[in-house]
Amino acid sequence: MKILVTGGSGYIGSHTVIELINAGHEAVVIDNLSNSSEKSLERVAKIVGKEIPFYKVDIRDREGLEKVFEKEKIEACIHFAGLKAVGESCVKPWEYYENNISGTLVLVDVMRKHGVKNIIFSSSATVYGDPDTVPVTEKSPKKPCTNPYGTTKSMLETILTDIQTADPEWNVVLLRYFNPIGAHESGLIGENPNGIPNNLMPYITQVAVGKREKLGIFGNDYDTVDGTGVRDYIHVVDLAIGHVKAVERFSLNKGTEIFNLGTGKGTSVLELVHAFEDATGVKIPYEIKDRRAGDIATNYADASLAAKELGWTAKYDIKRACQDSWRWQKNNPNGFEE
Ligand code: NAD
Ligand code: UDP
Repeated sequence: MKILVTGGSGYIGSHTVIELINAGHEAVVIDNLSNSSEKSLERVAKIVGKEIPFYKVDIRDREGLEKVFEKEKIEACIHFAGLKAVGESCVKPWEYYENNISGTLVLVDVMRKHGVKNIIFSSSATVYGDPDTVPVTEKSPKKPCTNPYGTTKSMLETILTDIQTADPEWNVVLLRYFNPIGAHESGLIGENPNGIPNNLMPYITQVAVGKREKLGIFGNDYDTVDGTGVRDYIHVVDLAIGHVKAVERFSLNKGTEIFNLGTGKGTSVLELVHAFEDATGVKIPYEIKDRRAGDIATNYADASLAAKELGWTAKYDIKRACQDSWRWQKNNPNGFEE
């Protein structure tokens, strides 16, 4: 299939482009480069041995999108493009709603005008809020999100579901990611946050490479194995392969489907720090800080539906993810800047 990958030069998108090519699909990337570098696609080209068609287009730019759809015979879209920083979304809610919601509405409108009605959407475990029980299944209730970023994900799930209900020609796959970490084994691409990382793994690797002095651990008084927060860390290549499996759903015309993409295993912050130290031999100094506003104690996936329906399970463990994250960071201390 020829697949439009929005946000395809970003962290998860670039890894997904590789797995699409590996599986025999064609990928066309659009990205406004607001949170990524075009160099990631040059690295992808090195890995897969061919250039990936790239258009610097914003998903809110109807004319720009129209041109891409007119030129390329797009059959489906994997929609990663969006702003994703939880804290920033509390300070700039308008920007988050405008970019993520308006952008998706324009994209979907241009898609349907060109008869392209297959979409995979990047959702998040954040739509479960603070779950009553773990692991969460796709049937676990959605709860109000604690930040505008999460609300955009939840709202877009509803919007895409309603569009599919009204027009059964649509095939919608909502993928709820848990916590992606790791990088391609080549060490050529990986997560490249702007400024101070919000997420745990890039913070750890920046401490390891000497860019930050020590890790702050946000709370050690949660009701968990060691008091630190527990999450489901999934290797980004596993996540990327999950998207390739989801592409196969389009031909089954199942309407709207939802899948958790996680490992099914919870890991605490301290466990991840120690796993990183064991996997790489690099010590991570840390200090315990106050809890971070909006954080929950524990969340991890029941990923059995994806196993049953998509034939997908995560195959890489935490150790491998730590090694791969570290290889990327060590080889590219300044990300894609040479
Ligand atoms: P990323 O920031 O690396 O990738 C997103 C890409 O979208 C970037 O390259 C950015 O430049 C682009 N973009 C943003 N707004 C755009 C617009 N208006 N038009 C065109 N391009 C635009 O983030 P990622 O970690 O690869 O995440 C991909 C998707 O997965 C996002 O939708 C994110 O919300 C979602 N997600 C990420 C995580 C995570 O922890 N990384 C977890 C759950 C869901
Ligand atoms: N975390 C931390 N220090 C950091 C970043 C994150 O202790 O510098 C903790 C955070 O409190 C949570 C876990 O690591 O328990 C995962 O946080 P992240 O922001 O990576 O993901 P999310 O909050 O989206 O699950």
